[in-house]
Amino acid sequence: MNVPLFSAQARNQALEESLQESFSRVLRSGQFILGDEVTAFEAELGRWMGGVEAVGVSSGTDALLCALMALEVGRGDEVIIPAFTFFSTAGVVARLGATPVFCDVCPACYQVTPEMMEAVRTSRTRAVIPVCLFGHCPDMEGIVNWAGEHEIAVVEDIAQALGARVGDVRAGTLGDFGCTSFFPTKNLGGMGDGGMIFTECTHRAERLRALRNHGMEPRYYHSRVGGNFRLDALQAALLRDKLPYLDGDLEARASHAHEVMDRLRTHPLVQVGCPSTCDCSGGGRKGSEAMISLPFIRPGQTPAWNLLTVRVHHGQRHCLREVLGKAKIGNEIYYPVPLHRQECLREVTVAGTLPHAELLADEVLSLPVYPELSREQLAWISDTLLGWLDRVSR
Ligand SMILES: *Cc1c(COP(=O)(O)O)cnc(C)c1O
Repeated sequence: MNVPLFSAQARNQALEESLQESFSRVLRSGQFILGDEVTAFEAELGRWMGGVEAVGVSSGTDALLCALMALEVGRGDEVIIPAFTFFSTAGVVARLGATPVFCDVCPACYQVTPEMMEAVRTSRTRAVIPVCLFGHCPDMEGIVNWAGEHEIAVVEDIAQALGARVGDVRAGTLGDFGCTSFFPTKNLGGMGDGGMIFTECTHRAERLRALRNHGMEPRYYHSRVGGNFRLDALQAALLRDKLPYLDGDLEARASHAHEVMDRLRTHPLVQVGCPSTCDCSGGGRKGSEAMISLPFIRPGQTPAWNLLTVRVHHGQRHCLREVLGKAKIGNEIYYPVPLHRQECLREVTVAGTLPHAELLADEVLSLPVYPELSREQLAWISDTLLGWLDRVSR
């Protein structure tokens, strides 16, 4: 049975008629960049996020870049980021001439902790970018409190976690800025690139709106250097069609992730988290013979499952990948190289040893949880993993 890692096809095909209508509407309007569609989409998503300002931009990467520019992060500043995340988070810091300072992550929940950030804080630390990796949130309350004490700005990278909640509050509205992406594989996936920045502050939102358009305010007067980070009208119109399905999609993703995890958890070689090295102190203890660790979900949060990412121990990941490949189950390593080991960042970063980030790079494996997975496909994923575990345990 074929189970791709991602598929937006089912949703897009079901919506084909309204997507076509939206295309025609934009075509006839003649307004292709920003304009009414973008303003309407910003209002709708801002409301969905709990009533915050929302500023549409050209990608998740540009959302991060624009937020850091609004904070005037630049040369001489340090920005703390997790070593285990997508490249964007570090790339934007380096592009502004600031120094990305990498911190380690918890090996059970894969997220940064305030303690790990504190360990690399200096007097030059201007901002931190906690990432909600795979749709799970770090201890955001702890991070925001800690950052506040030290007058450090918080830019949340929720590119993989649109819709996640910490308590009753949406991830992306807890820090100074929240940045998300509409890359097609994200929870709200577009038909091209796009992104959004969230902030509670109307003044900051105005600054972002100028920065996404070359820092121009009013027309042809530039008080700061911005860029072309504008969102296309067509992208906004298509995303407006998909937004009403996001709540249902998030529920389906969570239900799929739990269905697979509940089946796996029954196996003696599967544990939750990794209590021996974990600061989250979560999960059952099955000891060091475990083959697979399921992600530990920090209490008090509702993840927005973008992927189900497990750890495969004892150097057996390549072996499991072969089995999954033969079973036609899509899987991928996000991410095989921690950022402090990336060639282009070696010269500009400050990093000590980050053992958990390196361990995760060697052990993580991501599995599909997108909303359109069928019962049969989900069973096939669980059966294949359990079958492999039975064979290796013999
Ligand atoms: C996808 C992603 C980004 C970047 O988003 P783009 O829209 O592709 O630029 C940033 N951070 C993380 C963690 C991501 O997964």
